[in-house]
Amino acid sequence: MELTILGTAAAEGWPALFCACDTCKRARAVGGKNLRSRAGVQFGKTHRVDLSPDTWYQEAHLGADMSALEYLFVSHSHDDHWQPHCLAYLRPPFAHANNTPVQVYGNEAVVRTGRAELGAEQTIAVFNEVAPLKPIPAGEMTVTPIVASHKVGEQCLNYLFASEGKNVLCAWDTGLYEDESSWKFVENVRLDCVILECTCGPSKCERYHMDYEHYLAFKERLEKAGSVSSECIFVATHFSHNVGILHDELEQYFSPHGVCVAYDGMKIVL
Ligand SMILES: [Zn+2]
Ligand SMILES: [Zn+2]
Ligand SMILES: [Zn+2]
Repeated sequence: MELTILGTAAAEGWPALFCACDTCKRARAVGGKNLRSRAGVQFGKTHRVDLSPDTWYQEAHLGADMSALEYLFVSHSHDDHWQPHCLAYLRPPFAHANNTPVQVYGNEAVVRTGRAELGAEQTIAVFNEVAPLKPIPAGEMTVTPIVASHKVGEQCLNYLFASEGKNVLCAWDTGLYEDESSWKFVENVRLDCVILECTCGPSKCERYHMDYEHYLAFKERLEKAGSVSSECIFVATHFSHNVGILHDELEQYFSPHGVCVAYDGMKIVL
């Protein structure tokens, strides 16, 4: 299984739009792994999670070819994860694609806004409302949605991707799970890769995102449950510029804990 982490910033990107803070100034000056676009992970050319405002950039500059995209899984309706109007470009003359309709999976808000955006053009994308913990057959993969803990009034989702005997957990926008069924599920699979958010880094965070402490508590809980192998790759992602430190400094914190710090374009082969 091969996947690319395309976007690794929180909602405002990093450097953040319009921001004059020191961390953004430093990120602009240093560049490289400090330039973070909004969320997106792609498995090969056919499966993707989230459609952010930086999707074009990721396709053009990070090699995220979507001309053969078949399945799109959306975590929730916040605009750094869901830009449904992009799907209107699936049809000619905007795209000469042979992959339509794209199957789109998400919660009620994602399905509703997707259908509203495409209006009469429902033939280019099919919107499927998912049920938590109900596995979705998607080509060579099986994808299971899990309830995240993120937004009041909306059931935000994390996803487990399973293929070729490997399991990858995509877990962002979420705090520590509040839904016991989510814990039960992740504690009972054998995880090969966990892509887990750490929006707040060293800053204290309340409930709906994670900080360093939450990240390590999540990791420890999985380790205690025996659901991660010793080779399991832990990745931290979805960072806010308000963490106040750059990529190298995030690495200094995470490396001793056996966690990789994501950057835009990071490839993982399992
Ligand atoms: Zn987000
Ligand atoms: Zn900033
Ligand atoms: Zn969000």
